[in-house]
Amino acid sequence: MFKVEDIRKDFPILSRKVNGKPLVYFDNAATSQTPKQVIDAIVDYYSNYNANIHRGVHTLSQEATDLYEQARHKIQTHFNAKFSHEIIFTSGTTHSINLVANGFSSLLKKGDEIIVSALEHHSNIVPWQMLCERTGAILKVIPMNQQGELEIADYDKLLSKNTKLVFVNHVSNALGTINPIQYIIEKAHHVGAAVLIDGAQSCPHIKTDVQALDVDFYVTSAHKICGPTGVGMLYGKEEWLKKLPPYQGGGEMIAEVTFEKTTYADLPHKFEAGTPNICGGIAFGVAIDYMNAIGFETIATYENELLEYATNELLKIDGLKIYGTAKNKTSVISFNLAGIHPYDVGSILDKLGIAVRTGHHCAQPIMDYYKIPGTVRASFSFYNTKSEIDTLVNGVKKAKMMLS
Ligand code: PMP
Repeated sequence: MFKVEDIRKDFPILSRKVNGKPLVYFDNAATSQTPKQVIDAIVDYYSNYNANIHRGVHTLSQEATDLYEQARHKIQTHFNAKFSHEIIFTSGTTHSINLVANGFSSLLKKGDEIIVSALEHHSNIVPWQMLCERTGAILKVIPMNQQGELEIADYDKLLSKNTKLVFVNHVSNALGTINPIQYIIEKAHHVGAAVLIDGAQSCPHIKTDVQALDVDFYVTSAHKICGPTGVGMLYGKEEWLKKLPPYQGGGEMIAEVTFEKTTYADLPHKFEAGTPNICGGIAFGVAIDYMNAIGFETIATYENELLEYATNELLKIDGLKIYGTAKNKTSVISFNLAGIHPYDVGSILDKLGIAVRTGHHCAQPIMDYYKIPGTVRASFSFYNTKSEIDTLVNGVKKAKMMLS
């Protein structure tokens, strides 16, 4: 039985005050908070078995290696990858995307086409633009509509035998829209294109099965799913990971080095040059255990209740407009008050202890589409409550009064 008050006890930060008021943390889409189970795992690592992995014969190194590889296995199981070597530890979503984009530099030629969506985070736009500059490939964009959904009929028209890659986020960080990724993947595969799905915003809400989706690459960051910052993962189908060249050279990623020739290590180490974020990887595994113990269906049901409640209450405020009204969305509300800059609203909310994000949310093309400088974004997690939403609604009313 899901009891939010019990869940909140797992998160020490939720009992702190900000500007003399109890913290209301609604910036979960930027980064999630960390339960004590994950914090304890970090403290345990540095207190008891901090050591470099894979190369050591000593006990600490073996313990650290075992736990790091167990974490990889947990991530494999969670996303249902066929092999644990299809899970590459990275520093996060951005690193994972750049790794794939770099790898495709040698596989694309002039005139090949890459498709992204209008709903992307900058980290799923810029690396592909850089890839196009390097290779002469052409970037095409699936347009969006006023509801903040993709115009899927246009996607069908963009696909051709020249399409080599398709990149779409599972969920938009700016609007919360859940994209029809199953359809996008199937259609791309019909023309022989590979697909990368950016799961940074879906992973805290939706349990993804990479084999059922038949997706080629899936990427995410641990800090979106109650884990630490600076660690994330790239899932890649074995056949693709074997085809892509290494991203960085260095220790750990080699089989043999001479000055004449170097051979590379097998997967996953081929893509894991240097000492990784060992503690972060282990804590990522603990975060996944924590989320699974609550259950993703339970989480989604509760967050949908919060979303519906907050949407109804916020829309009662005259002059408040919500951007992104897709039927299928996660617990994200992007909004503005007529004639008031989102930054000003965010600053007043902060004085009241309420943490929201303001600005373009690293998704400037979406803001350009709506012809706005940015929005106020409140994003809810399973440890938030309706009473915190009441605090937000009252805060927005106060901001409106003070700023109009
Ligand atoms: N893609 C999406 C959809 C995101 O929301 C984010 C984080 N805001 C990223 C990519 C980048 O993630 P990171 O900064 O952890 O690399």
